[in-house]
Amino acid sequence: MSEALKPPFAPLVAVVTTDLAAITRGRFVPADRVAAVLEGGVGWLPANLSLTAFGTIADPNPWGSKGDLRVLPDPAARYRTGATGAETPFDMIIGDIVELDGAPWSCCPRTVLKEAVAALKAATGLTLRIAFEQEFQIFGADFPPAHPLSMAALRRADPLAPRLAAALEEAAIEPETLIAEFGADQFELTCAPADPVTAADRAIAIREIVRETASVAGYRASFAPKTAVDSVGNGVHIHFSLVDDKGRPATYDPAAPAGLAAPAGAFCAGVLRNLPALTLLSAPSPTSYYRLRPNSWSASWTWLADRDREATLRICPVNVARGRDPAPQYNIEYRAADATANPYLALAGIIRAGLAGISGSLPPPPIVADHPDRMDEARRAELGLRRLPDSLEGALAAWRADDIADSWFAPKLVETMLGVRAMELRFMADKTPEQLCQTYRDLY
Ligand code: GLU
Ligand code: MG
Repeated sequence: MSEALKPPFAPLVAVVTTDLAAITRGRFVPADRVAAVLEGGVGWLPANLSLTAFGTIADPNPWGSKGDLRVLPDPAARYRTGATGAETPFDMIIGDIVELDGAPWSCCPRTVLKEAVAALKAATGLTLRIAFEQEFQIFGADFPPAHPLSMAALRRADPLAPRLAAALEEAAIEPETLIAEFGADQFELTCAPADPVTAADRAIAIREIVRETASVAGYRASFAPKTAVDSVGNGVHIHFSLVDDKGRPATYDPAAPAGLAAPAGAFCAGVLRNLPALTLLSAPSPTSYYRLRPNSWSASWTWLADRDREATLRICPVNVARGRDPAPQYNIEYRAADATANPYLALAGIIRAGLAGISGSLPPPPIVADHPDRMDEARRAELGLRRLPDSLEGALAAWRADDIADSWFAPKLVETMLGVRAMELRFMADKTPEQLCQTYRDLY
């Protein structure tokens, strides 16, 4: 730990969970109570799952004012750093929501992800390596203009970038690359792949650390999918690869088309089959659908492509220079996600859909070379390509029309999620697209 971790006053430790509006909330305890809290958790209540991003509770919701739960911190998910520039250390432990007797709560998003991972493992022996790649924009900085990807674009924000790198390093998030991205004052952060729960934990920790580091510098970081209708989108790209029970890569087969091994092909076919419904989990806000449009390097059709950033599922490149092994690098990127989504739930949905694809022995999807937008209807039908929902209403309809997706989660979790989304639609009903983007820019 750095010197900055020893302030003159007792630091607080946050015990947190992330809800259906993708807001990370929790309770804060003095550091000397951590041992007790690791044992027994902190109090929580069911209705907290119905909180919206607007500081309201979705109405109706299945919980009302009754009931109590605990958030039980996971000591392996403690993210600590003194490098954000704040006066006291950033110290956050992510937990699982449990019943008072310690039993898992069926509606806890992190538990739901653990269950999906366990179901995949039990049925196939496979597990996943996951990395979240996240984009955000800085507001309130008044940076001089700079070319995207340029040295100056990153250095004008100094010391934001090195501080972020140091903070993420210290918090053991294994940061890999920081980019001054294409959009106005847009940046991107990647970190090393990990098991699914750790990867989702890291996605949350990265957001919080970025927000804090930016705020200490006097800026505001926003991960909202579209901060203005005509701005470049902020994506959350979920990279995944399969690993067998001996830890060997199981996604790559040099003899298969584009190198996509059979189980990974079936997994992708499952994801594509449920993709319209999955967007409700991975792109759940009204503004998500300003991003999911053709020709914006996000995602708009149910297609798999080899190294094309317009595809929803993109087979990523491998670096084979100097005899490097492609197998452990080979991965697929799910591009239809953004930071208004709960990462645990989005990933749980992807895993459930992929698992159903493997269990049903779905044939590998076609690897599509042309943009579906430029095909005629007959060609799209032949390839089985469908347009993703183009609005939150559309995503809700796709979810309701998909019986498989509905069976993935506890009924009360689905009911709560639909309630939160309905409230969001009501709240935003009279807003112009520009007002919507502005609202979400400030909320995320
Ligand atoms: N900004 C794009 C998005 O909204 C992604 C650009 C890229 O390929 O990194 O997802
Ligand atoms: Mg990017």
